[in-house]
Amino acid sequence: MSWKLMIHGGCGAMRPDSVTPEQEEQARAALHAALDAGETLLGAGGSALDAVEAAARVLEEDPSFNAGRGAVLTADGHAELDAAIMDGTGRRCGAVAGLRTTRAPVSAARAVMEHSPHVLLTYAGADHFAREQGLEQVANEWFKIAVREAQLAKVIAAGGGFDSDIKYGTIGAVAVDSAGHVAAATSTGGLTAKRWGRIGDSPLIGAGTYADDRAAAVSATGLGEVFIRAAAAHELCARVRIGGEPLQAALDGVLAEIVALGGNGGLIAVAPSGEAAWGFTTPGMYRGVAGPDGREVAIYAER
Ligand code: ASP
Repeated sequence: MSWKLMIHGGCGAMRPDSVTPEQEEQARAALHAALDAGETLLGAGGSALDAVEAAARVLEEDPSFNAGRGAVLTADGHAELDAAIMDGTGRRCGAVAGLRTTRAPVSAARAVMEHSPHVLLTYAGADHFAREQGLEQVANEWFKIAVREAQLAKVIAAGGGFDSDIKYGTIGAVAVDSAGHVAAATSTGGLTAKRWGRIGDSPLIGAGTYADDRAAAVSATGLGEVFIRAAAAHELCARVRIGGEPLQAALDGVLAEIVALGGNGGLIAVAPSGEAAWGFTTPGMYRGVAGPDGREVAIYAER
């Protein structure tokens, strides 16, 4: 059985003429670094669960993406972070939403899975739990970067609605290990100028994140409200497990439903067989895939 790791750094209106060479170089380097982190573990016989956490942590730390440091800001100017992780063996999972001080949201999600009787913790309680678990705490300012402050100001000046040029910079990782077990992780700051304690699809098991050894591991990016309505990540697994669809056909079918419901976005998925698929309805998606035969990193439709 051979291992496979697939990652995304969000999708959106990225085109070669709208991303500077420096931004592109930084994003590609971060995608390679995330693949390196997961590949080291998987290549040495490590678990899919450890690999997706390790890859997600690299992407959370890189300000190119809307997760961890560099997350988008709420209407009142805070970073509020959501994440989930799921182990396809036994369908164990953990998630957090609205974190303000925990540096590694994906690791907080894993702590919920492994050290609490719960699946989803939110807001101050989730940070409190993460602190008790010994996870590093930082000031909310640590997550903020100037470009996100400028984006927030632009969205508020335009009336607070969502920008059609939006880049969904959520990050995610899915993997299958050499034992044939799958795992998925997703981490995000959500949407710019979110209000009222809005939570998107990323930390909701079955919407933005799902893993089941009987089907696939899935991570989503895009307009979270529509991915929740479609139960997108679980729907993809159900198409494979119950409907018998090939992985890529199942993924394309879910994206068609997302578009039919008025949304857009992208998905990555791997199956216990080692099969992998990705797709997106936007001009680009930051993404990468690695296996024993090599790797590929891409941003735009073609490269
Ligand atoms: N799906 C995320 C959310 O709605 C946003 C993203 O993909 O960037 O919270």
